Amino acid sequence: MTSPPEKITVVCPECGEAYKDWYRASINLELDDFDDAYIEEASTATCPSCGHKVEISNLIVERDGRWVLGEDDEEMEDGEG
Ligand SMILES: [Zn+2]
Repeated sequence: MTSPPEKITVVCPECGEAYKDWYRASINLELDDFDDAYIEEASTATCPSCGHKVEISNLIVERDGRWVLGEDDEEMEDGEG
């Protein structure tokens, strides 16, 4: 099942700007035919101040509902390119 969009506050790891964005916790492509651009939009957040993009799946939600980047930042390798 596809989750509805959820509003979150993201703290940019680059410049510290806090901004609002949204994401979907899960997307079921068997039910919803989203295109790649939408999925990208739904799973990443881009800082309006410096343009730094973060993957929301890498973010950790704090008790006050803010999302911040996890401390240990693992390099993810996806076999493309
Ligand atoms: Zn920023």
